[in-house]
Amino acid sequence: MKSLQAHIFAFLKIVMIGSTVAEDSLVLDLRSYSVEKDKTTQESVSWKPKNTALIICDMWDDHWCKSASRRVAEMAPALNTTVREARKKGIFIIHAPSSVVSFYDKTPQRKLARQAPFSKSRVELADSPRWGTAWCWPDPKYEGVLPIDDSDMGCSCTGEKCEIREAWTRQIKLIDIEEGDALTDNGQETFNLLSERKIDNVILCGVHLNMCVLGRPFAIRQMVKLGKNVALMRDMTDTMYNPERPPGVDHFTGTDLVVKHVEKYWCPSFTSSDISGKEPFTFEEDKRNP
Ligand SMILES: [Zn+2]
Repeated sequence: MKSLQAHIFAFLKIVMIGSTVAEDSLVLDLRSYSVEKDKTTQESVSWKPKNTALIICDMWDDHWCKSASRRVAEMAPALNTTVREARKKGIFIIHAPSSVVSFYDKTPQRKLARQAPFSKSRVELADSPRWGTAWCWPDPKYEGVLPIDDSDMGCSCTGEKCEIREAWTRQIKLIDIEEGDALTDNGQETFNLLSERKIDNVILCGVHLNMCVLGRPFAIRQMVKLGKNVALMRDMTDTMYNPERPPGVDHFTGTDLVVKHVEKYWCPSFTSSDISGKEPFTFEEDKRNP
């Protein structure tokens, strides 16, 4: 009997040591742009995975722009690998496929989000009924104008431009939704989930950086205004940017300019390598680094 107890203690010790290692294993190399110093700065931070959430923004099954849709499908497997590693580390995963959440109505992930106890935020959320838009608009108090012109909605296809239509019905199937994950596109539900778990650190990824990843009520502007430590996973995002519009750079340089805008005015960024241990993701079409 004594020997069995000894075995159990030995086992528990291994499990406890294992979980301690896992808990301390999120080290992020955060890149910011310092306006004062007029240069990019790097800082290594250690976040506790259990106090960290990763929010996947609008990785839909389809998009009205064929190029945008193709890029989401190309990025999704790499993102899924990263999300899997994040989950393993104990990071809380929130899937946020805006406007198609009802597709998941009966799932445990929706239930988790709906049932999180109400938590009052210190700033009014962007989806408060008073605003009516569920959008955190650009705020001149915080940021300059976007460095790319997306006023044409940013179809990057060459030749004939895509027509805007209702294209998405759910999150792309290539991203696994697992037990313990949550699913919502609602700012209040997101805030409730974070409060319930005492989560102060929020990682944003998904599409599109110049629009939803900044503006949604669960996304960068809102999370910064709520006082969270926010970081953008910069190789797991894309923009709606048509290279024929100002500043007339290629699509991927356009995305980099928006990343820099985020680093300057909103939050630092890092690459998925810090979570996955793999090379940062790049798109096939991005011919800048042969
Ligand atoms: Zn297009």
